[in-house]
Amino acid sequence: MNTERIESSEAFKGSISSRSSRGSEAFRGSEHSLPAKHGCKELLPDLYPDTGMKIYGSGKPVRLFVAGLHGNEWKDTTGFLKSIEPSKTGTLAIIPFVDCGKYISTLNPGYYSGIGKKILNAIEELKPDIYIELHSYSSENLDKLAGKNRLELIGVPAYSILKKGVLLGSVSPWVRRKYFPKEALCLSFELQKGSVESRKFTAHMLEILKEIRSRDEFIDYMKKEFPVQAKKAIEDYRRFYGEI
Ligand SMILES: [Zn+2]
Repeated sequence: MNTERIESSEAFKGSISSRSSRGSEAFRGSEHSLPAKHGCKELLPDLYPDTGMKIYGSGKPVRLFVAGLHGNEWKDTTGFLKSIEPSKTGTLAIIPFVDCGKYISTLNPGYYSGIGKKILNAIEELKPDIYIELHSYSSENLDKLAGKNRLELIGVPAYSILKKGVLLGSVSPWVRRKYFPKEALCLSFELQKGSVESRKFTAHMLEILKEIRSRDEFIDYMKKEFPVQAKKAIEDYRRFYGEI
């Protein structure tokens, strides 16, 4: 595990100071840009994503939503966060885009200290009560993500299948164990690449999550709306992290 001290980058400080109160307009004209080495700027000049973090509102609970973590996932996930409206209570911080270079899994111990460093900076600074990652997957990988033997094969619990191809799981142990207290709510959504239905349902879940005030409130919501998946997720979590 990386024990290197995490310092707030200049870019991160800059984004804190550029607080904005509403909507996606705030993203236009961002001064942030990607290092040229990634090459995605040349590939997709019109869709080129911004890299900054935005913070809406203030106080508790603090929510941090992150998308576009690696590879080409930003194509399916970044738009959600760029268009999200501020929450009615507490703080909503969003990082719509992290990296579009070579795909490095968040299960790789070097992810969060490398290309995901801006996520760690944000977590250390904001100490979020609710942390959400948005990922996307190709349908041929469904079994790898949600198959029963994921724990044996990959060492982390399988995702639960929610609805419309959207999967729900915890976030990488590399970030969960070291940077969050037990009572934090840390979730990872995987939506099916290119699926409109998957997108719609994810947008619905984000609308719910941005108004959720605690982990327990979310557990109650899940027990009511998705009882089977809630049971599995809670059992997996207990097995992997101990009592909640
Ligand atoms: Zn991913």
